[in-house]
Amino acid sequence: MKKICAFLNCKEEGIYPAPRSREDITNYKFYCIKHIRDFNKSWNFFEGLTEEQFENEIRKSTTWDRPSWKFGTSNYNKKINDRINFLNDIEDKKVLKKKVDSKLLSSWNLLELNPTANIEEVKKKYKSLAKKWHPDKNLKLKDNASDMFVKITNAYKVIIKSFKSQSIDIN
Ligand SMILES: [Zn+2]
Repeated sequence: MKKICAFLNCKEEGIYPAPRSREDITNYKFYCIKHIRDFNKSWNFFEGLTEEQFENEIRKSTTWDRPSWKFGTSNYNKKINDRINFLNDIEDKKVLKKKVDSKLLSSWNLLELNPTANIEEVKKKYKSLAKKWHPDKNLKLKDNASDMFVKITNAYKVIIKSFKSQSIDIN
């Protein structure tokens, strides 16, 4: 979907991102080329600084809380995109890690083990639980038992996999 320039009554396509405010430069509105130029003129965050002072200010800023490029230049647009991608990456990783962690934790709980247990303890525990819940040994509780059997088997797989990924991390 095409964005329309944010300038009042302008019908041009809004291609160039500009922050809504100094306090929140991760929130953008989009302007056409003419109006991004106007925006640049009015944006004087670094007004009065030399090019060199500019660079120094930017290097000092570890959180990227200040714009270091003129809005609408390809460099600026690229940096914005990099930043957005970077933030998305972090979010994705956080979400993924949380999912993986909670899955792993519930797996340990299912096997009635502490996450500090070693791989031999896990195997031993799984064998005893698998025996206990094997559907053939639980004719009266067949459905529940096979349900439980599948659950502990999946939990076992998740835990074994986590051991393997740990050793890959270390090596
Ligand atoms: Zn415009």
